[in-house]
Amino acid sequence: MARKYFDTADTIETTVKIRGIEYPAVVDFELFANMANFDCFNCVEHCCGDNPSIYEEQTRDFILKNIEEYNRLTKNNDILQWEGYSQNEIEKSISEDPLMVPEKHVEEEIINCTCSFKCNNSTTLCSIHSICLDKGMDSAEIIHRKPVICSLWPIEILAEDDLSMLYITLPDDFTNGFTIENYYTKSCINEEYASSPIFRRENPDGFLEEEYEPFITAYKDTLIYGLGKRCYEDIKSALIEYEVLEEEDFHMEVQQIHSKI
Ligand code: SF4
Ligand code: SF4
Repeated sequence: MARKYFDTADTIETTVKIRGIEYPAVVDFELFANMANFDCFNCVEHCCGDNPSIYEEQTRDFILKNIEEYNRLTKNNDILQWEGYSQNEIEKSISEDPLMVPEKHVEEEIINCTCSFKCNNSTTLCSIHSICLDKGMDSAEIIHRKPVICSLWPIEILAEDDLSMLYITLPDDFTNGFTIENYYTKSCINEEYASSPIFRRENPDGFLEEEYEPFITAYKDTLIYGLGKRCYEDIKSALIEYEVLEEEDFHMEVQQIHSKI
């Protein structure tokens, strides 16, 4: 299905750089003009419900260095101490366990992603991202510390088995939503749904129409530091060349990656 889709979509060829490694890529560039608004503080979706598949060493080190703040947000240490673990055992688990907490407590006592926290009774946020912001880190540093799959969400990346080519798109509808579930209820990438009365019943605040921007603008830093500057520039050039966007559309000054509570 994916091959068929990329054979018929308008694409560009470029090079992406993910965690310092370059890969040739085919990008379904027009979808990067779709409107997006990552108004996570007003969102009640559980997009941090599942853990990423891999926690890299730099994420684990960052949590260990900021363990008090991490616990203040997530309550993970308090929960594990309450379950009888010593501080040494908790820190060893952050260093070594796949999900940074002992397996048997995942989804039982520690619901949603291990690193998620609730800033109120409805909104779920990322503790790693929040600690980075509190420390005044820039976009590159935030993307370096967060799991790469989380930073790049909702960009869809499919790969040949030998990684000789990556295929990159965005969820638009079920014709190319290869990996994302429930596209229709993701208000950040579905402006039509966000303007519906069904959505407003659940979310009376936020997701204002005037705050939607082309995805490439809303995610500029993420594209540059997550997929590489060349990839960002090539998508931007193609969007301008094919008259999908104009230079003046690339104006957003404060990226939503830096939004704070
Ligand atoms: S669904 Fe979108 S707006 Fe909601 S928390 Fe996730 S990224 Fe943010
Ligand atoms: S963004 Fe943070 S809280 Fe959400 S799934 Fe990724 S690591 Fe977990």
